[in-house]
Amino acid sequence: MRTDPLRHVAQELGALRAQGRFRWPRELQSAQAPRAVYDGRLVVNLCSNNYLALADDPRLKEAAKAAVDRYGTGSGAVRTIAGSLQLHRELEEALARFKGTEATLLYPSGFAANAGTVAALLGPEDVVVSDELNHASIIDGCRLSGAVKRIYRHRDTEHARELLEASQDARLVLLVTDGVFSMDGDVAPLPELCALAKRYGALLMVDDAHATGVLGRGGRGTVDHFGLAGQVDIQVGTLSKALATVGGYVAASRSLVEYLMHRARPVLFSTSLPPAVAGAALRALQILEQEPERLERLWDNTRTFKRGLEQLGFRTGQSETPITPVLTGDEDLAMALSDGLFEEGVFALGISYPTVPRGQARVRTIVTAGHTQQDLDFALGAFERVGRRLGLI
Ligand SMILES: *Cc1c(COP(=O)(O)O)cnc(C)c1O
Repeated sequence: MRTDPLRHVAQELGALRAQGRFRWPRELQSAQAPRAVYDGRLVVNLCSNNYLALADDPRLKEAAKAAVDRYGTGSGAVRTIAGSLQLHRELEEALARFKGTEATLLYPSGFAANAGTVAALLGPEDVVVSDELNHASIIDGCRLSGAVKRIYRHRDTEHARELLEASQDARLVLLVTDGVFSMDGDVAPLPELCALAKRYGALLMVDDAHATGVLGRGGRGTVDHFGLAGQVDIQVGTLSKALATVGGYVAASRSLVEYLMHRARPVLFSTSLPPAVAGAALRALQILEQEPERLERLWDNTRTFKRGLEQLGFRTGQSETPITPVLTGDEDLAMALSDGLFEEGVFALGISYPTVPRGQARVRTIVTAGHTQQDLDFALGAFERVGRRLGLI
């Protein structure tokens, strides 16, 4: 008799269920907003990357509708065949102005931008020096490229230096980091990495998925935040977080963008962004420039909420951004905290291995510019009650 070819799948599912780790995502039944309906319940939403609360902004909706009316729903092809829209060029030009680079190139997602760019630039004769907590899409890009991987301890620039020192025979060395780390909310030591890249002749790439619309003047990202304009070779970003749509991009020199247009596989083999997305993202960029007060509200809310959690006695790690982890260490406790909060009308997801290392389970919170003081007070009240009940504070 033939044995079940998916035995390992059944085993893994069984193990997840046995450990109480089997979860199906809660269902969003309203707009993605600071207060939203999940699984039939109106909750204060501390889970989304909708930093500037633009995901249900009437002006973005209008822009998306106008793009649909004029250009239809689908782009119909990959960029390099028939799917290069006028709107893509306009968005790429706007993003290049925003990021202060010669050019940008859109990708179907931030994931594709990271993985596709690293894989297009590096081969087995090259070396990538990468922070241990970099995003999965960077890690996958490194694997796809076949380059030699050298992983440095999180934000440890002395370790990165040693690895660069040991990599001098390679054709190309790529030093790559997240700008803001997505699970901890801490910021890369970019000035030091920049100096190292120069000293060792490495190419420097920063993934600003969580920094765009959040850090730097007008939300321009970590390069602007640290005053490093013109010194970082590749900035990756996403339209999917603060810019409230979907898609990724690379901001770099014109020649690098020209190369990627011909060699990055997600650009060559995945259909380009639909008109509605490009139109809405363009509008989001304009709003970001016209309404700097959104960023101020985001940071005011960040400070208020972080201070509140710390005053209650929670462990919140090294975060310097609107991402604030509430560390429990224990996975069951993280899930119990998240479930208890939901009962109280607050949505903040428990995160455990393999998304974070073992023993570092947490409930991750993200505040947005759209949360009111009342929302934050409500959430802090829920954290206090559930935290006490679970013995966390
Ligand atoms: C979300 C995220 C991505 C992926 O972006 P998508 O546009 O959602 O594919 C890449 N890098 C980091 C650090 C992220 O947090």
